[in-house]
Amino acid sequence: MASSADSFDRALWWKSSQEPPLNAPVFSGTGEADIAIIGGGYTGLSAALHLAEAGHRPVVLEARHVGFGATGRNGGQVIPGLKHDPDELLAEFGPNQGQALIDLAGGAADLVFDLVDRHQIICAPTRSGWIQAAHSRQALTRVMNRARQWQERGVPVELLTQAEIAARTGTNIYHGGWRDPRAGSLNPLAYARGLARAAKAAGASIFESSSVALLKRKGAGWEIRTHEGVLNSRQVLVATNGYTSDLVPGLKQSILPVQSMLIATEVLPAALRDKILPRGVVLSETRKLAFYMRQSIDGRLVFGGRGSVGTQERAELIGALSAGMVRTFPDLQGTRIETSWSGHLALTMDGLPHLHAPEPGLFVALGYNGRGIALSTAFGKIAALWLSGEADPVYPVTPIKPIGWHRLREPVMNIGIRWYWLKDRMGFAS
Ligand SMILES: Cc1cc2nc3c(=O)[nH]c(=O)nc-3n(C[C@H](O)[C@H](O)[C@H](O)COP(=O)(O)OP(=O)(O)OC[C@H]3O[C@@H](n4cnc5c(N)ncnc54)[C@H](O)[C@@H]3O)c2cc1C
Repeated sequence: MASSADSFDRALWWKSSQEPPLNAPVFSGTGEADIAIIGGGYTGLSAALHLAEAGHRPVVLEARHVGFGATGRNGGQVIPGLKHDPDELLAEFGPNQGQALIDLAGGAADLVFDLVDRHQIICAPTRSGWIQAAHSRQALTRVMNRARQWQERGVPVELLTQAEIAARTGTNIYHGGWRDPRAGSLNPLAYARGLARAAKAAGASIFESSSVALLKRKGAGWEIRTHEGVLNSRQVLVATNGYTSDLVPGLKQSILPVQSMLIATEVLPAALRDKILPRGVVLSETRKLAFYMRQSIDGRLVFGGRGSVGTQERAELIGALSAGMVRTFPDLQGTRIETSWSGHLALTMDGLPHLHAPEPGLFVALGYNGRGIALSTAFGKIAALWLSGEADPVYPVTPIKPIGWHRLREPVMNIGIRWYWLKDRMGFAS
């Protein structure tokens, strides 16, 4: 388990979530289940909720507590879409599957806000759109092309000039960009707790402080050992994303767990709250080593960027984030940073999430590449339909492919970061 664990309760959402913690019991003794889910983030909780609503009785085993992973610490920007543009999806997957993936990606934010609405989750949802802001002329051409692809498919996107972005966000450092109206924001931990509450009410069993130490085949099903108990289950969904350990051979080596880090300022004065990303709009940049930012509901600027490539937080990156924030919003010079925290996300080599079924009855969904609130909720639903036998995934199911240089990932990625830094400085579009 990553040592950034200790930053969890420094996250702004921990103090501000109006959805209370679940305080679920520890799994102990011996139990039987039809479907077990390992991991209590959005993937696992969305799967549990959709399964329970369909009449199943899934059992969720979470090592720490609901939302402990990236789910409870992220930036709260609910952004639809995969990192691949619609035309790329059609070219790579063909007209039928490509279109299904466009529908899946395009509708992912709708699914989140529908769930929030349907289950009355108190998570400060806003739906004011996402601005993707171009850091260079080349990046602007790239995002305009992206925006036009969605526009051609009926999404009422807006193309924004430098002046328009400045008027809406309070910074004029960007060359222009686009606004996707399907996007929005929420309190990420509160959303997770609300999903858990709804899943439990629908019939799912959720256990916290129940880390799975061993997963092994037993007859036609699976034996799942936690520190205090043994659960036998016909099917298992592994939903551990950037916190994946060695439960499934090769899985940990198929992703690159990297940290993302966030800082939150003190509450801004009213004049700055009206100027800097007001009224719920969220923004991320086109840089490969991108900053992403929003206001919290109580008027702080929440500003995120890359963390370390290892499991240890690096304090100097907080300074780099603060400096980036002031470069972006010079008005914030002298503004106090009240808290900072980090979490692990899972990168994949193809930039796409992965679905695996390495053995009969064993399923995996992970790899959202830092854009996972909407996608992991959608993949949880896909997994629910898949495990219950209701529908095969529209998304490709692939073999687990360990990355050859995984053992050397830290030095390799540190070199990669320098390379991306240079490309960003030179204005290349990623
Ligand atoms: C700092 C940060 C900022 C981000 N910002 C955004 C954003 O603004 N917008 C966006 O869309 N996405 C964002 N993301 C990505 C998004 O948060 C993730 O893609 C998403 O939360 C993944 O959810 P998950 O359920 O798959 O995994 P996680 O939430 O990471 O959950 C995995 C869970 O598995 C549990 N687990 C691991 N091993 C075991 C075990 N052996 N037994 C039991 N349980 C286990 C862990 O404790 C953890 O709770 C961000 C990520 C980070 C880290």
